[in-house]
Amino acid sequence: MEKEAGMDLLETVNTLATKALSGQRPTREEVLRVLRSEDDDLMDVVAAAFRVRRHYFGKRVKLNFLVNLKSGLCPEDCFYCSQRLGSGTEILKYTWLGPEEAAALAGAGISGGARRVCLVASGRGPTDRDIGRVADVIGAIKAEHPAVEVCACLGLLSDGQAARLRAAGAYAYNHNLNTAGGRYSDICTTHTYDDRVDTLRRAQRAGLSPCSGIIAGMGERDEDLVDVALALRDLTPDSVPVNFLIPFEGTPLGTEWNLTPRHCLRILAMVRFVCPDAEVRVAGGREIHLGSMQPLALYLANSIFLGDYLTSEGQQGHQDLEMIAEAGFTVEGLECAKPVARGGPAQVALRHRGAGTDLPPNA
Ligand code: SF4
Repeated sequence: MEKEAGMDLLETVNTLATKALSGQRPTREEVLRVLRSEDDDLMDVVAAAFRVRRHYFGKRVKLNFLVNLKSGLCPEDCFYCSQRLGSGTEILKYTWLGPEEAAALAGAGISGGARRVCLVASGRGPTDRDIGRVADVIGAIKAEHPAVEVCACLGLLSDGQAARLRAAGAYAYNHNLNTAGGRYSDICTTHTYDDRVDTLRRAQRAGLSPCSGIIAGMGERDEDLVDVALALRDLTPDSVPVNFLIPFEGTPLGTEWNLTPRHCLRILAMVRFVCPDAEVRVAGGREIHLGSMQPLALYLANSIFLGDYLTSEGQQGHQDLEMIAEAGFTVEGLECAKPVARGGPAQVALRHRGAGTDLPPNA
């Protein structure tokens, strides 16, 4: 009986891979099956989704770098966000960074291998004056690094703002759908899912590359994750960040530790099957939720953030690069770089604890 169930799953993921490679839409049931699969079937899921990832993106990993232009003090109440109104999280709070400072921060990420810089600001949405500020930052970054893609993430856009960002040299605009439309009021009461869709469309109409993704682990059902992934497919974003909730103390979702590393991989595989040719990015929460299984995520996603997130720290940038190289992937734009070798004489630490010493063993 168990064997039969396993074969069914294998058939389903092979069907999903075939559909993904031929541009066919998967059914809701097929996609749901991925999220409901057993841990014992995880490698079958990963292998099938990897075929899709490899077809569209080879073994390249795109690096993105976040610059938080304005941190905290937001009037919105997104339940997952450490920058929300009344947040008790002890984050850094500051107002707009100037163009030089922002460009210097972006330059650090670019020299680490980032091809895209994501300029983020807290708030419901930018004023027209804020758009001018961001335009200056974009100008300063592009003057030094003309080839880098700049993505803006400034909240809800109003008339003409997307076009101004595009004219200033922005390449993309990020605005996540976050969760299924049917439960949006469970995670935010100050704006709606439709507001978010509207901003994404405004960005798209202005010629900005649309970037929109999800946050998993906010108490949603598997069906909700499938619904938001299928909604994203319909909106045709070029890039899809998959965040795993960082449960910040001091936010309403601060105790929601619902994810396992295996389920995070199933979610990434599901998104890859639904949005096969989109840049699927493992975003916030990668380290804390995937833990030692992070490298497997590279078989599903073709993009990560290098270094830190908006208000929390990621693993060290050099560890991100080592992880990519050790898993046999290459950083996009640095395909010719020398592979990173593991180990070396300087890294051998001789044991001075446990047997033969007075110190307790390492256990
Ligand atoms: S997600 Fe954005 S809009 Fe929502 S509270 Fe955080 S900074 Fe404000």
